[in-house]
Amino acid sequence: MEVLLADEYGFCFGVERAVEMVEEAVAEGARPIRSLGPLIHNAQEMERLGEKGVSTIDSPGEADGDTIAVIRAHGVTPQVQRDLEQRAAQVIDATCPFVTRVQHLAERAAEQGRDVVVAGNPDHPEMIGVVGYAPNNTYVVRDASEVASLPTLRSPLVVSQTTIKLKTFLEVAEAVRQKADAKPQVVNTICSATRDRQDAARALAGEVDAFYVIGGRHSSNSVKLLAVCQEQCEKSFLIETPSEIDPGDLQGVGRVGVTAGASTPDWLIKQVVQRLNEIGAAHAQPVH
Ligand code: SF4
Repeated sequence: MEVLLADEYGFCFGVERAVEMVEEAVAEGARPIRSLGPLIHNAQEMERLGEKGVSTIDSPGEADGDTIAVIRAHGVTPQVQRDLEQRAAQVIDATCPFVTRVQHLAERAAEQGRDVVVAGNPDHPEMIGVVGYAPNNTYVVRDASEVASLPTLRSPLVVSQTTIKLKTFLEVAEAVRQKADAKPQVVNTICSATRDRQDAARALAGEVDAFYVIGGRHSSNSVKLLAVCQEQCEKSFLIETPSEIDPGDLQGVGRVGVTAGASTPDWLIKQVVQRLNEIGAAHAQPVH
């Protein structure tokens, strides 16, 4: 049995950077390290980091004077950042630079007295952080239909949550054009990580007999990856660990594809590949 990895899989740039920043602090002996919200949406990686003294807090108020506080890749509002800086011994700001860009674009537009429309999910932590940079001027809309209820928009800036679909963003931008008092400034701030992983999975799914997506069952990008694989490969499975692989599913399988969500660490992917190779070798044994 041949095991084939998709061209793009696993940690995106922002998540990898956040984990590396925390690992560096661990190596320097910093304790206790507390991330505001889970650093990463992967239970196994959180457990591994937990063994190294990294834990999660739910609000800045939980950070005491000894805490090394971590701002995760989604970012936070400037108020929350200031609060953490006042309370904690040190703040590690692991906001993904792609998210920082959206925050600064919104802040600058607001300073110029312009409105900001962000295509995204208003309940997502990334969006809550962005709104904090331009609280009086920002509207977060899930899709174009929500633009209709907004007031006339003043020289608006249109940006996007980093993980939304391009189609949604373009539709929102078009709807804003109809509502604006001047030509909007449209800046596509979608990050390609999610789409790249989906495109790579789609390219491989037609070539294999079975497909394993490694990722948390609550990780939306992993669940979407599974849906992409299932379009072309009936035997597609979402697994969190190698122990979930059922060798019976691989009887008669010649080629198996593997991909992983943006929060799945490399060590877990290696374990799955190793397990698949073991099963493949076992299937190749002559039957006596
Ligand atoms: S998905 Fe993109 S924007 Fe979000 S953390 Fe990863 S690299 Fe950054």
